[in-house]
Amino acid sequence: MQPKIQSDDTIAAIATPPGEGAISIVRISGPGSIGVGNEIFHGRTPLSAAEGYTVHYGSISDESGREVDEVLVTVFRSPHSYTGEDALEIGCHGGFLTSKGILELVLRHGARQADPGEFTKRAFLNGKLDLTQAEAVADLISSSSVRAQQQSLGQLQGSLRKKIDGIRRGLLEVLYSLEIELDFSEEGISFVSTIELQNRLNNCLSEVRKLLESYETGRVIRHGVRVVLAGPPNAGKSSIFNALLNDDRSIVSETPGTTRDYIEESILISGIRFLLVDTAGARESIDFAEKEGVLRSRNLLKTSDLTVAVVDSTSQPDVDFWAEWMAGSIPNRVIVAFNKCDLRKEMVRPEGFPDGMGREIHISALSGYGLDELRHLMLSSVVNSGQIGEYDIAVTNKRHAESLARVQTAIEASLLSATREMTNEFIALDVRLAIEAIGSITGEVTTEDVLNGIFERFCVGK
Ligand code: GDP
Repeated sequence: MQPKIQSDDTIAAIATPPGEGAISIVRISGPGSIGVGNEIFHGRTPLSAAEGYTVHYGSISDESGREVDEVLVTVFRSPHSYTGEDALEIGCHGGFLTSKGILELVLRHGARQADPGEFTKRAFLNGKLDLTQAEAVADLISSSSVRAQQQSLGQLQGSLRKKIDGIRRGLLEVLYSLEIELDFSEEGISFVSTIELQNRLNNCLSEVRKLLESYETGRVIRHGVRVVLAGPPNAGKSSIFNALLNDDRSIVSETPGTTRDYIEESILISGIRFLLVDTAGARESIDFAEKEGVLRSRNLLKTSDLTVAVVDSTSQPDVDFWAEWMAGSIPNRVIVAFNKCDLRKEMVRPEGFPDGMGREIHISALSGYGLDELRHLMLSSVVNSGQIGEYDIAVTNKRHAESLARVQTAIEASLLSATREMTNEFIALDVRLAIEAIGSITGEVTTEDVLNGIFERFCVGK
């Protein structure tokens, strides 16, 4: 655990978003917060005499005695607050001017404007949250789907920390037994067999691998899935885009090549965000604007998580076109949609269409046939059903994944040393590296740079 660090200065910020609303909240934290509040607040009980977790009605007035607002002040006494310090939350009337007026008054009474994320940073430094939980706070605030929100909440409640702590404990046990043996090395006493050692390291390794595997799912839940609709002009890309969106955002036209650039919109399927990208028709063209669009859409294809290849099933497939476009793509990341099936008597794949490009479905953007199946395929392409329920312990954060990768490398190295029957000192060296790397996830071992990088992305007031 981090040492308890009580800051000696008092920070303040408006904790509610700018704009009009019923109420706004000014937050103050630090040893001077109750003193500052006491000077500006007038109610039945002076704040200096108030107990923690109590709410007080009264008014706030400035140095000249002018009333600024009627307020409700919540008092928190250290260590029972979000930051672990003495803290106040002043609930005032909404609108930026009132809260700004109160904040300025608080600042004139000796508090300092808080940096982004500084309240949460203090919570971390005072041992109220570990780093994964602090990061989950930022993620929770910026969640754009229910699933992402649930995942951040799970992380905030410590689900990831528990897993990480389990692995760390396992590694520490290995290290202790290696060190005990080192102490008795002259006597040649052995406490754990090599096999036992390897088993324990392998257990830790498999836990680390599981977490690393969950990163892909976690990333998808957190950031959404980028789906590119690709295909020649007039295949029906814009129509599918609109049908999925239930909206007429993209231009549908009967002249090939009307969708010049690309358009992005997002939809939710089972709580997961999919970012749909409608590309320009991809055919050599003398029209410069269209060429640009074509180039861009090829780049888009490279950076997408999933491609829906839209094929007009009523016309002869352009085999060369598809060969060129889909070169290097991964079949389980491609859905081939034979569109316009309403115009065909039988649902058969167009003759001559290349095999093995991806999972195939027949759809009609016009009648809506097959659209549900398309949504289902999109979902199952990125999140297999086994992983979908475990979103609460999926690793979503790049920093965590990088640290876990370091843990994995270090455990693998220690296992290699153990297999080669190297001395305990060698094995212990890598186990220590693994422990250090895993400690950096929850914040047992951190540097100022890491901390700043994390808290920088918070909003002021959090
Ligand atoms: P894009 O160039 O690939 O974006 O194709 P569009 O979505 O603009 O569609 C081209 C033409 O095909 C339009 O006239 C659409 O109405 C028509 N179209 C698209 N999907 C279907 C479908 O499923 N069935 C039928 N009958 N026509 C469709």
